[in-house]
Amino acid sequence: MRRTRHYSAFAIAREALRRHAGWQPAWRDAAPKARYDVVIVGAGGHGLATAYHLGRDHGITNVAVLEKGWLGGGNTGRNTTIIRSNYLQDPSAAIYEKSRSLYETLSQQLNYNVMFSPRGVLMLAQTQHEVRGYRRTAQANALQGVATEFIGPARVKALCPIIAIDGPRYPVLGALWQARGGTARHDAVAWGYARACSDMGIDIVQRCEVTGVRTEGGRVTGVETSRGAIGCGRLGLVVAGHSSRLAEMAGFRLPIESVALQALVSEPIKPCMDVVVMANTVHGYMSQSDKGEMVIGGGTDGFVNYTQRGSFHHIEETVCALIETFPMLSRLRMLRQWGGIVDMTGDRSPILSRTPVEGVFVNCGWGTGGFKAIPGSGYAMAELMATGRSVLAEPFGLSRFREGRFIDESVAAGVAH
Ligand SMILES: Cc1cc2nc3c(=O)[nH]c(=O)nc-3n(C[C@H](O)[C@H](O)[C@H](O)COP(=O)(O)OP(=O)(O)OC[C@H]3O[C@@H](n4cnc5c(N)ncnc54)[C@H](O)[C@@H]3O)c2cc1C
Repeated sequence: MRRTRHYSAFAIAREALRRHAGWQPAWRDAAPKARYDVVIVGAGGHGLATAYHLGRDHGITNVAVLEKGWLGGGNTGRNTTIIRSNYLQDPSAAIYEKSRSLYETLSQQLNYNVMFSPRGVLMLAQTQHEVRGYRRTAQANALQGVATEFIGPARVKALCPIIAIDGPRYPVLGALWQARGGTARHDAVAWGYARACSDMGIDIVQRCEVTGVRTEGGRVTGVETSRGAIGCGRLGLVVAGHSSRLAEMAGFRLPIESVALQALVSEPIKPCMDVVVMANTVHGYMSQSDKGEMVIGGGTDGFVNYTQRGSFHHIEETVCALIETFPMLSRLRMLRQWGGIVDMTGDRSPILSRTPVEGVFVNCGWGTGGFKAIPGSGYAMAELMATGRSVLAEPFGLSRFREGRFIDESVAAGVAH
């Protein structure tokens, strides 16, 4: 198996001297084989991270990741890249903190710069109800080993001078502050995992849409695709907003609703904000990209749809909301908007689970907040698929919906991020 060249300062210097003629493609564009031990559907961050950990941690490399479009072209390449782990419930804090801690060294692990920037995340408290809620979360996080603190308005202003803390309707009363939360470059996360997978011999097959799931005696035997039938021993469905459709092909139903979530960016401006701010009450969140654009997240559509594009009323609502907290935004021009199809569960927690079909596993339900979970989710899903059990994944099984063991994160996910 050909390995890609190690990226290093030395390699850049050498290539500079020979007109960059020696770089290779970061991953092989594989053609599908007739059969694999494991097939993963969906080359977003979660599918690629699952394949990576199957190879790295469990030595399973006869794996294909099938993608109907281009890798990272789903929500992974459309999100606003906020990374944090300040969730309330213990199972959530465990998987999101595992993920956040993996992000700390992901660039070194993958030998690919994912531009993790632990610049700190502020979740603003703008009502007494939120003050109580975030104080409670800070206490829960202390018990869970997640480093967060509740801070007062003066500290918020010091961390983010462009905030108007005496806002007209909702003054800033404090914030939940996670100093090691932040952002990463979304495409780079997908590309880095893809390169590492390809190096291990895992096939990433793009423009290969799965159109059916083959079963025999209640067990998966393979998939039908736009590039022919492919056999497999185990199948992972990791397709975010398309999860219900894939489950239907396999013959079961998922408690998922798919809706469009959108975001927008402004024209680039000089650096003015070096933290991430989320304002749940007025509903909006914002960070500044390395290029200087203000990256702004809006809300989900209030109805089920698969449109994968933005809508004007959300832009208006989101920008109006943020201008209350950041008045300087009123003088900015907006550059572009886009949307992605997110997969929402009733308790706003993900599903990492076996399914009624033997050999079929699902990883979905990350909804509006799964980018931050990619490394941890890949780690847990690979363990589940390889060994049949994962401590991190166990609470997120499908059985919780039958048994009423919900992991309610509607507060932590109160704003779409
Ligand atoms: C606007 C927006 C902002 C967001 N902001 C944040 C944020 O700030 N922080 C955060 O943590 N999360 C955020 N999210 C959520 C996050 O993007 C997702 O939870 C995460 O990217 C999901 O990754 P995934 O790999 O599961 O799905 P995806 O990246 O969507 O990958 C699934 C892939 O499956 C493919 N696929 C679908 N059907 C088939 C088929 N039949 N055959 C083959 N392939 C198929 C799709 O083409 C797609 O590439 C945001 C989402 C959006 C839309």
